[in-house]
Amino acid sequence: MTTEKTIDTAALCEQYQMNTYSRTATLVRGRGSRVFGPQGNQYLDFTSGISVLALGHAHPAVVEAIKNQAETLVHASNLFYTPPVGLLAEKLSKIGLGGKVFLCNSGAEANEAMIKLARLWGSQHGGKYEIVCMRQSFHGRTIATLSATGQSKVQKGFDPLMPGFVFAEFNNLDSVRAAITDKTVGILFECVQAEGGVIPATQEFMDGVRALCDEKGLLMMLDEIQCGMGRTGTLFGFEHYNVKPDLCSLAKAIGGGLPLGALLATPELSEVFTPGSHGSTFGGNPVACAAGLAVLRVMEEEHIVEHAAKYGELFRKGLEQFVEQYDDVLAVRGMGLLLGLVLKEPRAKDVQDELRAGGLLACVAGPNVVRFLPPLNLTDGDLEEALEMIGDALDIVFGGEEENA
Ligand SMILES: *Cc1c(COP(=O)(O)O)cnc(C)c1O
Repeated sequence: MTTEKTIDTAALCEQYQMNTYSRTATLVRGRGSRVFGPQGNQYLDFTSGISVLALGHAHPAVVEAIKNQAETLVHASNLFYTPPVGLLAEKLSKIGLGGKVFLCNSGAEANEAMIKLARLWGSQHGGKYEIVCMRQSFHGRTIATLSATGQSKVQKGFDPLMPGFVFAEFNNLDSVRAAITDKTVGILFECVQAEGGVIPATQEFMDGVRALCDEKGLLMMLDEIQCGMGRTGTLFGFEHYNVKPDLCSLAKAIGGGLPLGALLATPELSEVFTPGSHGSTFGGNPVACAAGLAVLRVMEEEHIVEHAAKYGELFRKGLEQFVEQYDDVLAVRGMGLLLGLVLKEPRAKDVQDELRAGGLLACVAGPNVVRFLPPLNLTDGDLEEALEMIGDALDIVFGGEEENA
């Protein structure tokens, strides 16, 4: 019999799975902030499955919700009503934009729904369809969402791209204003450009876009897929700015590790979709929705958002030491527990590799930025241990430079 110890998982994935990812380690089990490899080797996980596992791996409340729902009703399709779907939609509406919700299975699908709703609304408001997007953004890998993504590395080779997306410079209101035409229906961006380098929007930009949308009758469309659900120290990234969008997409952390995405709308935009205008076979899967309800319940009961804000500040202070210490570390960027260590040289991958060798898993955000996405229920012990491992990795990569700094 083969077991996880005897099969070569990496070799199987490399041989039989299409070559879309560059992977580095095999993981077989996770618990809290820790993940384990087949030989029992252990890592402290500061990727959280790319901002998905807000409560860490195998949180008991999430596991229990998944088990219970799996035994009750795994799938029904959207031909029928099911309890977890109704309860989650209610919850998301109340904590979000006050209107109705469309449920789907991923971030790209949530953005697809947002783009479709905006176009449908635009078709009823003078035939508008163009969406102003930002350079360095990331919105997903489907043809529509990669066409809305302002990064050539994501778009290269997939021409012709979908028409109807124009690009402006992030945090530059003049650039956005110049991109608006009489065909513009909305402005789409992330409060914190995550994949694009962990770059927060400025207050001026958020206020300016909101005012522009109000003045010209455009939809303010926020992609909160990575920066939402408490990641930045508020439930939604936009709360930092005291600005509300008209539409907002969620995914990643909302399903507690199961595939789940959502489009949230204001009451005014809640009736744009009608039966037949959009849909998904799996969207709003009862098990994923039950997991999502458990995540939201724990986040409320354990004050996880406040915790993320507090520990985000502690982590930031810890990382700022390295800016002092190393000439090769330029800055700490981000909000809450979505933090990037900005390097002078394109050596983020080298640092990521050394971190992993030392037992800490981290992401990158472009060639110059190491991105940290710890669980939102981060503990003092894990934070201390991570900072120590980050110091060690920087020491190895930048060669004991601190002595002459
Ligand atoms: C991850 C991400 C997406 C895409 O989500 P998928 O679930 O991978 O389709 C879109 N926008 C942002 C900001 C993301 O971080």
